[in-house]
Amino acid sequence: MIVRTRNPEATHHLDGPLTVAEVLARLDVPEHTALVIHDGQLVTADHELPDDAEVEVRPVISGGAASGCLVCRKPPVIEEPRHRAAWCAEHFVDHVQNQIRKAIDHGHGLAHGERMFRYRDRLLVAVSGGKDSLALWDALLEMGYDVDGLYVGLGIGGYSSRSQQVCEIFAQQRGAHLHVVDLAETYGYTTPSGASAAGRSTCGVCGLSKRYVFNRVAVEHGYDVLLTGHNLDDEAATLLGNLLRWHDDFLARQGPVLSGEPGMQARKCKPVYRLSEREMAAYCVVRGIDYVVEECPLVAGNSGHELKAALDLIEAGSPGVKAQLLFGFLDRQARIAPAEQDDDVEVVACRDCGMPTVTEVCAFCRQRERILQVLPLLGDRTAV
Ligand code: SF4
Ligand SMILES: [Zn+2]
Ligand SMILES: [Zn+2]
Repeated sequence: MIVRTRNPEATHHLDGPLTVAEVLARLDVPEHTALVIHDGQLVTADHELPDDAEVEVRPVISGGAASGCLVCRKPPVIEEPRHRAAWCAEHFVDHVQNQIRKAIDHGHGLAHGERMFRYRDRLLVAVSGGKDSLALWDALLEMGYDVDGLYVGLGIGGYSSRSQQVCEIFAQQRGAHLHVVDLAETYGYTTPSGASAAGRSTCGVCGLSKRYVFNRVAVEHGYDVLLTGHNLDDEAATLLGNLLRWHDDFLARQGPVLSGEPGMQARKCKPVYRLSEREMAAYCVVRGIDYVVEECPLVAGNSGHELKAALDLIEAGSPGVKAQLLFGFLDRQARIAPAEQDDDVEVVACRDCGMPTVTEVCAFCRQRERILQVLPLLGDRTAV
């Protein structure tokens, strides 16, 4: 069906039939902020719209945003042009947790009746000390989930020590359990020294190391699901990068849910993919969460930043366009980037570490071996 939203103007193509409530939920439009018009008639939330329907969603709040909190009309602390709404502190916390709830229960890529995870599951959230992962941990604890944290010490000077301290204090204040894995202590290199030794970009070495440690801790400690704090801006930027370069295999795999392999590969989910950077930062401020505001000093090597800046530029003129890009892609993913059947690729245990790989020795162990061979030759030059 074709759904036209007004102010900002946009056209959405959704597969029907869907109820009006389902359409509004897909578009992130709160029911009481809009009128829905089908065939010239106003229709209510439970009205079913056929696949060939043409529908208009017309906002009823003028000026682009409410003058008071969307829920209680008190003075708002934040307004969000994408939702054409504003909230007081209390209801903003509800809004963020509702978006997380929506991702857990009805996120893109979930089969009918499937959830990202359930209350009985043991969850592990990878925390960096930044806003997204700590906000996620806080929200899930508040919502009553059984969730521990994992911090990986990357050895990036004062930035890493401050990040670790912030995570430890967060866990201590809430009586939550935090695993800490220090790359240097456990694997013999830091991110900067490893990058020099391997002759790779810092973010490349860092990313592979983090993904490996996350999975290893999740599998070895028997967690059901590994969670990361990738937000809407992260995911939209990744999508744009994959589209610009037509990385078909990444496009097929991108999504908020990645299934796992028991005992080998943890199931991975991104429960804050519906929330923007700004919403995550505001949640931390409202909830009094102390997070590391400074960026990783090595972030210059991360191409995601330019893509985010480009999307921000477009979003400023067309609020909601980032969400439309990401959610629109995820709605159509099966059609436009179907997953390859990789039945003939056998996943085996790495000869050196036992973790899953499709080659004899996993990419992490190969990288580590290269680093440890070269590191002694570099001596103190790589110390951080
Ligand atoms: S910016 Fe790069 S080096 Fe820094 S934490 Fe992120 S991936 Fe690692
Ligand atoms: Zn309110
Ligand atoms: Zn290995």
